[in-house]
Amino acid sequence: MSGRILVISGPSGSGKSSIIRKLVDRVDIGFSVSATTREARPSEVDGVDYFFVSREEFRDMIERDEFLEWAVYNDDYYGTPAGPVADANAAGRDVLLDIELQGARQVKAHRPDAVMIFIAAPSLQEMERRLRQRGDTSEADIAARIGIAEAQLEEAEFLFDFTVVNEDLDVAVDEVVRLVTGL
Ligand code: 5GP
Repeated sequence: MSGRILVISGPSGSGKSSIIRKLVDRVDIGFSVSATTREARPSEVDGVDYFFVSREEFRDMIERDEFLEWAVYNDDYYGTPAGPVADANAAGRDVLLDIELQGARQVKAHRPDAVMIFIAAPSLQEMERRLRQRGDTSEADIAARIGIAEAQLEEAEFLFDFTVVNEDLDVAVDEVVRLVTGL
């Protein structure tokens, strides 16, 4: 049987990355490593967290039709290389995509069977507090990310099959594990 695509989306500061880290420890699922033109953060490893590429390399990948989806987010390009997802799915393995809303929309259009999960923070104020606490995002970037989140919250309701409110990390992880393994 071929594997599924699981899309996890949610605003910056929703705690989505922490949930995903714990999820991949508990569930046998592949993680799709995206390409991005964003600068690597100090803790990030090329080829593990992202493939960090130049704008020119990214545009070449678009021309060669190498992406399952891609989007511009906060002035940088982000995209899911199609090959590894197709290979894993063909081998019967589920693959998890951590992508923003425009990309999630494209995946759903190509693959209506994709399981769509939205992670929400309890409030915009809490989201902002978490981003600031993380200490690796500038104030201007925080403001931009909050603006994007506000604009996207409403639309999210229609695109996603499930919404998980991340009030408590362990509870949210349990809920996502249940969704992923129980489907
Ligand atoms: P960050 O810069 O915080 O790592 O990611 C910013 C946003 O880009 C997040 O919402 C993340 O889910 C999204 N993102 C990461 N990789 C991809 C991708 O391959 N495609 C799309 N569309 N969004 C992505």
